[in-house]
Amino acid sequence: MLLNSIGEFGFIERFKPMFSHLLNSGQTGIGDDCAIIPVNEKEEWLVTTDLLVEGVHFLKDAISPYQLGVKSMAVNLSDIAAMGGTPIGAFLSIAIPKDTEVEYLDELMKGIHSVAERYSVPLMGGDTTKSLQHLAINVCIIGNCEKGKARRRGMAKVGDLICVSGNLGDSAAGLEAVLNKFPKTPAITALIDKHHTPTPRIEEGALLSSYAGVHAMMDLSDGVASDLPHILKASGCGAIIEVSHLPISDELRSAAEEYGWDCLSMAAAGGEDYELLCTIAPSDFDAVNEAFKSNFSKELSTIGFITGGASCIKWLDNGEEFNLGNVGFQHF
Ligand SMILES: [Mg+2]
Repeated sequence: MLLNSIGEFGFIERFKPMFSHLLNSGQTGIGDDCAIIPVNEKEEWLVTTDLLVEGVHFLKDAISPYQLGVKSMAVNLSDIAAMGGTPIGAFLSIAIPKDTEVEYLDELMKGIHSVAERYSVPLMGGDTTKSLQHLAINVCIIGNCEKGKARRRGMAKVGDLICVSGNLGDSAAGLEAVLNKFPKTPAITALIDKHHTPTPRIEEGALLSSYAGVHAMMDLSDGVASDLPHILKASGCGAIIEVSHLPISDELRSAAEEYGWDCLSMAAAGGEDYELLCTIAPSDFDAVNEAFKSNFSKELSTIGFITGGASCIKWLDNGEEFNLGNVGFQHF
């Protein structure tokens, strides 16, 4: 049997049950943005790790080493943000082809350092090894949160509003521009920057998780179409998403017009935006959104709501049924 017949999640489901009985009380393992480890009566630790492989996650001649350093930290911090946590420390394991220039690695580490400074996350260890062909970068971040306050994917409730913290589809458009070597107009440059140097929404995640009415939360690494079903399965509910409410940047709208892109599909299914996706009790939404607006000078975007029934998304466009087609990112 080949791996592509079961996919990434089929593979995970094959071994996950073998380890579940080894979890100690209060620990949660595979299946959320971070694992949760109880520490004491007040605190829990959050652990996440992500691997970036040359040729799979990045093209060495398309992203600068500095940007690659930023991205490898940001995608991990985004998982800490998704739980409402605060980062404590980072670990870096890296496999390097032996013909790599030291100056390239210096720039990579400068990128990692800039994010470490921004979020006060020390690099505390890791491993360095030779790679026979491609560069591979694995970052692990440990964070913490108040006991019982971590937001998990299984916390959504029927009737919750589904909200996102910022514009969607920019990163997918940036990738498209990189792959097709589009001329770097200001709009295209902004989209490529979103793809290469995403911002982890640490402060946003901390604010959102301070409100009891914010239920489930995760970060958008693969896009709403692929990521929201994780919340729906874990919470045992369904969702209706109104695509006309998906927040789309001016840059994406203008580039989509110029290049004939379908920006609704990009916003619904494009990956690597690293915005937060959360579900909020309707009665709490105004207070949460007011605080969000006064802290971050932007509003939450409400894109739909949680329903009962099967764990799938019903897509609407201005109330009419919308066929998104077969989209979303899949490994293997
Ligand atoms: Mg995640």
